[in-house]
Amino acid sequence: MTKIRLIIMFLILARMSISSGTISDQYLPPIKGEIHPSSLFGDFRPGHFHAGIDIRTGGQTGAELYAASDGYLWRVATTFWGYGRVIYLMTTSGHVITYAHLSRFNPTLASEVYSKQVELSNYKVDLYFKPERFPIKRGDLIGYSGESGPGGPHLHYEVRTPDNRPINPLNGYLSIADNAPPIFSTLAIIRFGDRFDPGSVVKTSQFRCQQISAGRYGLSAEVSIFGRFGIEINAFDKIDGYYGKMGVYRMELFVDKKLIYAYCADTLDFDSFKQANYVRDYKLWWEKINSYKNPSQADGDYHNYYRLFRVPGDRQPTVKAAVADGYFSTNIEDEKDANKILPGKHDAVLKASDIYGNKAELSFVINIAESNQIPPRVKSNSETKGREGKRSQFDLFDGEVAAEITPNKLYYSETFSAIEIHTDRNGSSSILKEFEILPPYTFFKEPVLLKVLLENRSFPANKYCLGKSSGGNYTFCGNNLSDDSSAVSCKIGATGKFALLIDNISPKVTLIFPANGAQIKSKSQLVIRYRMTDNFSGIGREENLKLFLDDKWVPAEYDPDRNLIEFIPPTVLSKGKHTLHLSVSDQCGNKSEHQSIFFII
Ligand SMILES: [Zn+2]
Repeated sequence: MTKIRLIIMFLILARMSISSGTISDQYLPPIKGEIHPSSLFGDFRPGHFHAGIDIRTGGQTGAELYAASDGYLWRVATTFWGYGRVIYLMTTSGHVITYAHLSRFNPTLASEVYSKQVELSNYKVDLYFKPERFPIKRGDLIGYSGESGPGGPHLHYEVRTPDNRPINPLNGYLSIADNAPPIFSTLAIIRFGDRFDPGSVVKTSQFRCQQISAGRYGLSAEVSIFGRFGIEINAFDKIDGYYGKMGVYRMELFVDKKLIYAYCADTLDFDSFKQANYVRDYKLWWEKINSYKNPSQADGDYHNYYRLFRVPGDRQPTVKAAVADGYFSTNIEDEKDANKILPGKHDAVLKASDIYGNKAELSFVINIAESNQIPPRVKSNSETKGREGKRSQFDLFDGEVAAEITPNKLYYSETFSAIEIHTDRNGSSSILKEFEILPPYTFFKEPVLLKVLLENRSFPANKYCLGKSSGGNYTFCGNNLSDDSSAVSCKIGATGKFALLIDNISPKVTLIFPANGAQIKSKSQLVIRYRMTDNFSGIGREENLKLFLDDKWVPAEYDPDRNLIEFIPPTVLSKGKHTLHLSVSDQCGNKSEHQSIFFII
């Protein structure tokens, strides 16, 4: 009895030392208590990877944030968008730890940022400090969690190596509770035409993955194929106690027990950051998302198809092994032997695991038909638009609309077309022209310039702007005017529906607090607050918002999600009358002003 108890005690102790191990010895978690993520490192966003971990803060702001390690505050920035209020901590080992979307900085840092904002008369600042300015000890309070920038309350936590490569924080910087294995959803067999390139796809066959037992999966049907092909998997990962579906940490494809392709999200490279679309099949993702009535409500990560082959040009470090780039061929004329797969049945196993070793395995058979015939060369229906190295203008509708789609902006070659859309809007609309660039699921490697001629102008040139359709509405894309004001342009990241619109309506401003003429007790906390909404183009830049308190510019903050403008005076205001003057302009130069007074008693 005693012996068994001792062994159990020993096991418990051993487990504790493993789970706390090197992690908390060296690096302190950014917030107290258990870490509950809502998004992991390497998760996909259209066009880029998620470079950190999103930590939930219980729907609240104001959680204390602690320095993970000794070092100094190297960089601090504020903006209405992006990371919002963000701190970059330089550790003594030269790693950079990023804390983003903060509600407040610690008081010393806050006053430094405040004076810089006032000095520049701009909310947006990006400050770098010398090591001696803000030295930090592990565990120092550096700020408070918030929701500045887009998204609800959460902390975006990111770790970068001294050579500026983001690394997975779960590799020794943070630990979370995760006992749930990854889940396989759908396997896709991608058949290529005349070359190994997603631009030559001639057929996609999809198979549902069926769970046989815990962590073991099979396929709904046998995979029977010939010609050139590659494999893609729609899979996601789960963590304890959270409904969300996240990206998978590690995947390995074996055929006939040989490792063909391996993927691992342990590090990324900012130089190839946009290569997320090499790893993911954007087209299949797009088709899944758009099969929803309201695409914005679809869980994006869940619909992720991981390519288990390397797209030509792929340089990102998540690919760990790729025999013949992960492509298979039954064509005997193909040069590389490594690509070849012989007639007959082949056992394939796809292994997926998270960083804590929770595993799932999908086993299936690839059946290559017995045949003496050479499979016919399939000509794909796509071709490169424009010639490499030459600038090509993609003219739509006789030059009225042009999109500069050049080969260097594409992940792979594709053929584009455009159609004009005529929606009946009863003639009262601000939408002047609508058109769609097809195919609708192309994501560009580099932004593409979209230009629309302004014909028969009846409004001042700066009121014209371009919008992109998302969830049935148009969102502002840009309104750069050509030198002679004959055309308006913007950069676009993907194909889809676009429109030329007019925005001649000013932002709407409502004062929430303090009401005009209000008397405020000097001891109470004063949060000056407005609601600001705009019909279309929005304020766009921090400089388009100006708040004057007693005729002095002050750094008011704007939250684009909640449509709120807020300012908390850093010091207690003197007794007596105070004036407020808010001025906001949208990106089409439509301006609103609001003036009020209040009294401190
Ligand atoms: Zn994030």
